[in-house]
Amino acid sequence: MRVDKWKLIGVTVSALVTTGCELAGVWVFGRITDDVLTTGILAALIPLALFWLGAAILGGAAQFVGSWLSASAAEGFVARLRDHVFGHVVRLSPGTIDRMEHGDLIARLTDDVEEVEEIVGSGPVRAVSSVLGVVSFGVAALILRWELALLTFAAAPVLWFAARRFSRRIGAVADDERRTNGAVTAVVEESVSAVALVQAYNREDLVTGRVASAGGRWARIRIAQARLSGAYGPLVSVVETLCVLAIVGVGAWEIGAGRLTLGGLLTFAGLISYLYPPVQSLGHLALSLASARAAGERVTELLDTAPEVTDGARRLGAVRGDLELCSVGYRYPGATRDALRGLSLHVPAGRTVAVVGPSGAGKSTLTKLLLRYADPASGRLLLDGVDLRDLSLDALRDNVTLLPQETTILHGTVRENIAFGRPGVTDAEIVAAAVAADADAFVRRLPDGYDTVLGDRGRFLSGGQRQRVAIARALVRDAPVLVLDEPTTGLDAAAVRRLLGPLRRLMAGRTTVLITHDLRLAAEADRVVTLGGDLGKGSRPLVTESA
Ligand code: ADP
Repeated sequence: MRVDKWKLIGVTVSALVTTGCELAGVWVFGRITDDVLTTGILAALIPLALFWLGAAILGGAAQFVGSWLSASAAEGFVARLRDHVFGHVVRLSPGTIDRMEHGDLIARLTDDVEEVEEIVGSGPVRAVSSVLGVVSFGVAALILRWELALLTFAAAPVLWFAARRFSRRIGAVADDERRTNGAVTAVVEESVSAVALVQAYNREDLVTGRVASAGGRWARIRIAQARLSGAYGPLVSVVETLCVLAIVGVGAWEIGAGRLTLGGLLTFAGLISYLYPPVQSLGHLALSLASARAAGERVTELLDTAPEVTDGARRLGAVRGDLELCSVGYRYPGATRDALRGLSLHVPAGRTVAVVGPSGAGKSTLTKLLLRYADPASGRLLLDGVDLRDLSLDALRDNVTLLPQETTILHGTVRENIAFGRPGVTDAEIVAAAVAADADAFVRRLPDGYDTVLGDRGRFLSGGQRQRVAIARALVRDAPVLVLDEPTTGLDAAAVRRLLGPLRRLMAGRTTVLITHDLRLAAEADRVVTLGGDLGKGSRPLVTESA
């Protein structure tokens, strides 16, 4: 927030000016009562009215500038904090992010980040301007009639206490509201994404019931919320009315005794009406700071989550792509058995090794280690003889291209999806890659060709087409090492046949680890390695090879 120090100082100065103008307004109102309304001398009105108008305009302008500055400081902070936290999250290992609840993660990056602002920005600003208000109006009231002032100050603790009590309950209900709102979103999201299954199994009633029950809970909490804030306003105004009545009562007596003018009484009442709102605001403040602190803790927890792997320092010049695994073992956090154990494997530069094996044998785990989403518990992985842990993550990943099992199509045009492979890639390179990936022809038939916006997750493309876009994306990367994780999953025989050419062009001259179930694809490899399943017994050889 330090970068916005001047904005915060500006906000405080404008609060000062606004308070001063309000004070002047109250004072001039009393003067008008005494000098114009009571005496009937209209000529005296003009200068007083002009003064009042001036004070109102200046106060209004200060208020405008103050709220503008404070919004700009606050929103700037929220944006910076979110960028910072998101920048951290996006560098965490995919496994770590998978273990987080996504709804909760989103809440931390949106609501929580916003609330933290309260601690460093709006909270202190509000505290300063409230204290300023309480002190100025209180002191002015004391100067005007100290006995009367002391009498009305008695109500301040009542208001402060009421504000605290109410805001505590309102805060608790607001927490409930956020949680149930999140639950509604989660239920709707899950039901919508599973809508095909829901219809096929005739379970519409089940999901509508779930949404209705979450929605009902939310509605009840919203009503409770409205009831609470609805009760607070009237309660405060009853207390304020009591105070005004006391002032008028005592004031009338004082006026009768000639110790106070009507203008003096009205000025006093005006001061008191400006005094109470900042008192209440201070009452709310403690609570909103407490909830902002809780939000701050949730954000810090995210920032304290360390990436599973630490960045190495070594960079590589021209990578040949010689890949070697020396007795590599890995166990997932919290798992009771190893996902990989004692795996040794050498893939000479430019060669292809197919990795086959039953489900659960550790094939996908191997890809995670190759990309360094995680480090092996034992053994080493070497690229051109350098331990992956010694390499900088950027250097490693610049040299390794992953074609994941699930093709990810990002929301955007075909061109953007292919260009995602490498920053700064030219249009000609994109088209060349699409041609090599056998994607060019179908892309040109799309309504806007390369500029066709692909829907969420590429829903408008067939599985084979998605995979060919992914191959084009991998081709523009042009990295020496390639990791293919079941590139033909879910494709029929014809689609697999179409994919063979593009895949061959992708693998040509690159060190390739090809994970596959598909025998036709495995036949493309120089060597086939079978990962053994059933690691529990430990009696079977983990790796068998065939030429
Ligand atoms: P494959 O890709 O050969 O089917 P995986 O590498 O996905 O096998 O899994 C290897 C083993 O690790 C399996 O026993 C699986 O249950 C376990 N495993 C995979 N992912 C996780 C995970 N995120 N947490 C815990 N265990 C996992």
